[in-house]
Amino acid sequence: MRAVVFDVVGKVRLADVADPTLEEPGDAIVRVTRTAICGSDLHFVHGKAPIDPGDVLGHEAVGVVEATGPDVARFAVGDRVVVAFNIACGACWFCRRGETQLCDDFRNLGAGAFGGGLQGAQATHVRVPAADVNLLRIPDTIDDERALFVGDVLTTGLYSASLAAVGRSDTVAVIGCGPVGFFSIQAARALGAGSVFGIDLEPARLELAAIAGAVPVDAHARHPQTALADATDGRGADVVIEAVGSPTAFESAMGVVRRGGRVVVVGVYAGESVEVQLGVYWARALTLRFAGICPVHAWWDRAMAEVEAGRLDPTPLISHRLPLDDAVAGYGLFDRREATKVVLIP
Ligand SMILES: [Zn+2]
Ligand SMILES: [Zn+2]
Repeated sequence: MRAVVFDVVGKVRLADVADPTLEEPGDAIVRVTRTAICGSDLHFVHGKAPIDPGDVLGHEAVGVVEATGPDVARFAVGDRVVVAFNIACGACWFCRRGETQLCDDFRNLGAGAFGGGLQGAQATHVRVPAADVNLLRIPDTIDDERALFVGDVLTTGLYSASLAAVGRSDTVAVIGCGPVGFFSIQAARALGAGSVFGIDLEPARLELAAIAGAVPVDAHARHPQTALADATDGRGADVVIEAVGSPTAFESAMGVVRRGGRVVVVGVYAGESVEVQLGVYWARALTLRFAGICPVHAWWDRAMAEVEAGRLDPTPLISHRLPLDDAVAGYGLFDRREATKVVLIP
């Protein structure tokens, strides 16, 4: 089959690789109809996370079930499905509680040996383990493109806004208006927020924030803390969603939240550290919640319903649609930030 594979640091290429086969009784093989390039794919390309040359990249996909193992009960050949970006076992203590991102056997598609050694989804076909857990049926009313991100960033946005318990008339600040920030804004609106502010530095992202329903705040031009204070009689935001994952963004989040407010950190962290004066957080009675990776399986039914209702809509986010064979160009566009989201069509 055709697939996008890691070549050397800084380079991906198209390759003909072996077709995936059913390896475990719970597996399904999905013929991919749409797949996308994600920021975390770039970590592998840039050598920030290890992956072997020749390994298939990608974890965002929709498609049609083409084969199922004997243990697959909920899906049949021909079903239109979205694939979960994180592959959970569905049976361990954490999975049974819906905390699938903490699964004892947590794996990722296309994420190298440390991701569980599964091949990725930027290909004509992908093997999905524990298919009953890691696939979601797409309603007939929803096309492939609108369903694609339900397996990853769209549902992450809904998860973030829900963790923050966004309620009616809340003033919400979303720091970082990339894909997760975009969907966090839409989700905050869907959950009934009074007003949402989208804070970023890049004009293209601020434009997307506005399309998603936020008041864009260009942090170069206006101090976010002032913008939020002006909108709330000096109090600050009821809810802040930090969707960047940098110490600066974290400090900005803690700066714009009101006393007694709630901060959800969905931006990804690894080795960074910040100095925290605990007494300040304590005296301000803040709620601080680290989202971790989205347990997509616990939230994607709700996310799909929001897509069906039109309240979550990924269409404005997609800047490029390319044939799979043009993936190298797609990676270039995405890496140079000339694309907000690249969809590949096998
Ligand atoms: Zn992703
Ligand atoms: Zn599990």
